[in-house]
Amino acid sequence: MVGTTAQTLRPFLWRAAKLYPEREVVSRTHEGIERTTYAAYERRVAQLAHALDDVGVGRDDRIATVCWNHTRHFETYFGVPCRGSQLHTINPLLPDHHVQYIVENAADALLFVDPSLVEKVESASRDDGGAFDTVEQFVVMGEEVPETSLDPVTDYESFLAGHDETYEWPDLDEETPAGMCYTSGTTGRPKGVEYTQQMMWAHTMGILPEAGLDIRAADVVMPVVPMFHVMAWGLPHAVTAAGAKHVYPGPSPDPADIAHLIEEEGVTFTAGVPTVWLGLLDYLEEHDADLSSLERIAIGGAAAPKSLIRTYEEEYDVQVLHAWGMTETSPVAAAAHLKPGMESWPAEKRDEKRVKQGLVLPGLEFKVIGEDGEVPWNDEEFGELWIRGPWVTTEYFKRPDANETDFEDGWLKTGDVVRVDSEGYIQIVDRAKDVIKSGGEWISSQELENAIMAHDDVAEATVVGVPHERWQERPVAFVVAREGVGEGPLKNDIMDFLREDYPTWWLPDDVVYIESVPKTATGKFDKKVLREEYADHDVAAPEEAAPDDE
Ligand code: AMP
Repeated sequence: MVGTTAQTLRPFLWRAAKLYPEREVVSRTHEGIERTTYAAYERRVAQLAHALDDVGVGRDDRIATVCWNHTRHFETYFGVPCRGSQLHTINPLLPDHHVQYIVENAADALLFVDPSLVEKVESASRDDGGAFDTVEQFVVMGEEVPETSLDPVTDYESFLAGHDETYEWPDLDEETPAGMCYTSGTTGRPKGVEYTQQMMWAHTMGILPEAGLDIRAADVVMPVVPMFHVMAWGLPHAVTAAGAKHVYPGPSPDPADIAHLIEEEGVTFTAGVPTVWLGLLDYLEEHDADLSSLERIAIGGAAAPKSLIRTYEEEYDVQVLHAWGMTETSPVAAAAHLKPGMESWPAEKRDEKRVKQGLVLPGLEFKVIGEDGEVPWNDEEFGELWIRGPWVTTEYFKRPDANETDFEDGWLKTGDVVRVDSEGYIQIVDRAKDVIKSGGEWISSQELENAIMAHDDVAEATVVGVPHERWQERPVAFVVAREGVGEGPLKNDIMDFLREDYPTWWLPDDVVYIESVPKTATGKFDKKVLREEYADHDVAAPEEAAPDDE
């Protein structure tokens, strides 16, 4: 559909600027707090669209960002898609060769990069074999350009300066690609997910109401979940649609920054992965902070522990909403709301529902497929969760191989193994995908084990995710050394070897020597055996194992 009735992002921007012109958009920067309003924001977004026209970026080009959560990044969230282009947010925490592949695969025409991430892009574009050749312009998100090899390069403020503050936004076909994110697959390269204007519109409308994330005009919303991770769960668009106040925590916020912003800006609603909220609790144990404005936290991306939900509720009077989603589902697809009547249940019984991944959002459908077909909702039998709906993708970008295996008749096969209770609450019990999620970001176990097996002294290796209190999961490598190789030096060797190609947070917390890797009847590595055996394996992840460093 094209024209006045098309489901596109533009009306959200228009409405916020017209109905809530003085509502604030606030951002933490290294220099302090920056404030603007929807009225001023709309003008800057228009300037951005003109600047993109001016530099010769095509309407249907893909435009990349390598940025943290801040207002300039938020300007690209409307400026890029409303002019008809596709906003491609890149995760700067990925290994260099992943970033290279992603830029090449997406053929990005222009790349916005934060000053603190310039080095990351430089390092990814070094010896890139032409991966960055499509990028015609780099724009550093600030007022000046640091010393850099990126070329041609300009700073964001010069890029916008002097451009008209109104823009004749085009009437777009709602099928126009508007966004793009890559997600890590079990094997092979990251997979691109494209979001059309209609998908982003539908996701926005899906998360606004109470059955979604319940975002109201009176809210002050701080997305801690990165804007490069599934568009900060769609919050920047939904918060605008609601006319609420935005608070962006800026580059690598630590718990003190988060507590400070809640207190100073009167944040009512915030969202992020469990690791962030566990970190904030640790901080609050040692420091005073006034969280009285905070009403709700949406926690997702990994399972929220019951103790986390309880502590926020009992000690800070903050409601936790546990939510589930994927890059492929834009991402929010389920939330553990209580049904009418459950509020009066004893806390213990209520928590049983609230720790589940929850109730599917209105607009979506799901089913659970076990070995013998569809599984009943009896809280016992389990199978793979299949989901479909207006904001669920039906294909990966240029990946016919994955499209063949991961979709069927319009359903997305999520790879999450779930059971469903009689009231429809979904609960993840396992993961069919062989990947590790540490602090909300993926580590490919198969890629790591292939990298380790490339070492001359290694006969066999496998990498398994073990539970970790702070990061939810951490990788541990199990290695069979070649005969005659001593353990001690080999362990350090492996770490040094991996360090050449992988960021610190990808490195296994431990290397355990075994005689042989357990195998299934068909000769595949049987990770289940190791996972069970080492579930309590005591590894202390080094501080820098965090996927949150600049
Ligand atoms: P991503 O595409 O990076 O957002 O990752 C999506 C995956 O993260 C899902 O398929 C789940 O395996 C996992 N996930 C997301 N939310 C939750 C949750 N609330 N509890 C447990 N796992 C989750």
